[in-house]
Amino acid sequence: MRSHPARFFVVPGHEDLTAGEVVVEQHGRFTVVEKQGEERELVERVTHTGLVARCHAILERNEALFKEVNERIQDVSTTLAPDDVPLEFLCECDDPDCVGKVSATRAEYEAIRSVATQFVVLAGHEDPGVEHVVQQTNRFLVVEKEGEAAHEAQEDDPRKT
Ligand SMILES: [Zn+2]
Repeated sequence: MRSHPARFFVVPGHEDLTAGEVVVEQHGRFTVVEKQGEERELVERVTHTGLVARCHAILERNEALFKEVNERIQDVSTTLAPDDVPLEFLCECDDPDCVGKVSATRAEYEAIRSVATQFVVLAGHEDPGVEHVVQQTNRFLVVEKEGEAAHEAQEDDPRKT
């Protein structure tokens, strides 16, 4: 999917058709939208010049977005699944192409998310340059951002009021 730079995952119902997005695929758990017009040119230009991979700010934004998606997975699950059933969360590592799925229960994810600077990632997806591992299970790692990255994670926290 990410071989199309203008395509993005969104939670069903979160398509923004007024922003020039068109729905290209619909699945039970997510919808794939494709940017059109000016926005599409912009994302394609950014991706092709490699700016996405190099620009720290955009990476952080991406992680914040994934956190938001995960928050919604968790919200929806509240009414559907008991606490001890494993759910699929998106890997929150800083690789913009990563579409890895992390299996964690809602209680586990809730514990991780109670700290704004903590993210859940697949083993091997940690970035020792900006974070350190605070918890390790056979399904995922919990990493904690350090320094500037931690500050940005707090700023971008979807739970911040
Ligand atoms: Zn990852």
